[in-house]
Amino acid sequence: MARVGFIGLGNMGGGMAANLARAGHDVHAFDLAETALARAVSAGCTRAASAAEAVTGAEAVVTMLPAGRHVRDVYEGAVFDAAPSNAIMMDCSTIDIATARAVEASAAARGVVMVDAPVSGGIAAAENATLTFMVGGSPEGFERAAPFLAQMGKAVIHAGNAGAGQAAKICNNMLLGASMVATCETFLLAEKLGLDLQTFYDISSKASGQCWSMTSYCPVPGVGPVSPADRDYEGGFAAALMLKDLHLAMEAARSVDADTPMGQRAEELYEQFADQGGAGKDFSGIIRMLAGDSAP
Ligand code: NAD
Repeated sequence: MARVGFIGLGNMGGGMAANLARAGHDVHAFDLAETALARAVSAGCTRAASAAEAVTGAEAVVTMLPAGRHVRDVYEGAVFDAAPSNAIMMDCSTIDIATARAVEASAAARGVVMVDAPVSGGIAAAENATLTFMVGGSPEGFERAAPFLAQMGKAVIHAGNAGAGQAAKICNNMLLGASMVATCETFLLAEKLGLDLQTFYDISSKASGQCWSMTSYCPVPGVGPVSPADRDYEGGFAAALMLKDLHLAMEAARSVDADTPMGQRAEELYEQFADQGGAGKDFSGIIRMLAGDSAP
C-alpha cells in the first residue's frame, strides 16, 4: 500500500479519496473547503494543511479539481516542488486539452511521470468505485497509474499520449449532449404525433434510434429505467457540467478546425437552458425547455 496525496475533495474527489483509503492506502488529503476536508478525514484520510503538505513524501498524487487553472496552479504552485519526483501523478479533473498537455510537459521536464485521467460516471460512481477512467500519457505512466485508478473505478483505458484522456472525455460528452437533445426532441415529437410514449420507447429502444440517452437515462418520467426524470430532474449530471464539457469540446474543435454542428447546437441549447435557471438540474431536464415549459 502506498502513501497518496489527494487534492480536491469535492463531490467527486471526496468519494474517490475515501475509496483509496478503504483500499488500505495512507491518503493525505487537502481541500480549500473545510467541509470537504472534514468529510474525507471522517472517511479515513489524514488531514493535510496545504497541497504541499499532502504530497510531501507521496508515492502517488491524485487531483480532482474544477478546471484547468486550478490544476495548473496546484501542480506549478505546490505539487511539483513538494512531491518526490518519482511519485506517479494523476489528474482526474475534466480540463482543456491544452492545459493538460502543458502541465504534463512541465512534469516531464522535471523527470516526473504524470497522466491525465478524467472520468465518466457521476457522484454515485465516485462513491461506489465504478468510474471509467480514460488515461492520457506514456505507457509507463499508464502502467503505474492503472492500479490506483482501478481501486476507484470499474474500467481504466489507455486513450493515448498526454491529453488523450481529456480528448476522449470531451468527445464522449459532446456525443452525450447532442444525443440527449435529440432524444428529448424525438419524444416530444412522438407525443405530438399521438404516439403513446411507452410504446414508442418499446419500439425505438429495439430499433436503430436506440441510444444510451434513451435506454439508460430516458428524459421522460415513467418511461425506461428509473432516471433523474423520475425525481423532477434532481441529482444526476448537472446541466452546468454538461455545458462546461460542451464548451471544452467546442474549444478543442476550433483548435483543430473540426466542423461539429451538432455539438455546437447542443452547446447553444444548454447555454439557453442554464440561462433560464436550469444549470443545477440534471441535463436531461432540457426536455422541459424544448417542450416550452416555463419552469426548468
Ligand atoms: P467540486 O466543485 O464539487 O469539487 C472540486 C473541489 O476542489 C472543491 O471541493 C474545491 O474546494 C476544491 N479546490 C478548488 N481549488 C483548489 C485548490 N487550489 N486546492 C485545493 N482544493 C481546491 O467538483 P466535482 O463535481 O467534484 O468535479 C471535479 C472534477 O470532476 C471537475 O473537473 C468536473 O468537471 C469533473 N467531473 C464531475 C462529475 C460530476 O458528476 N460531478 C462527473 C465527471 C467529471
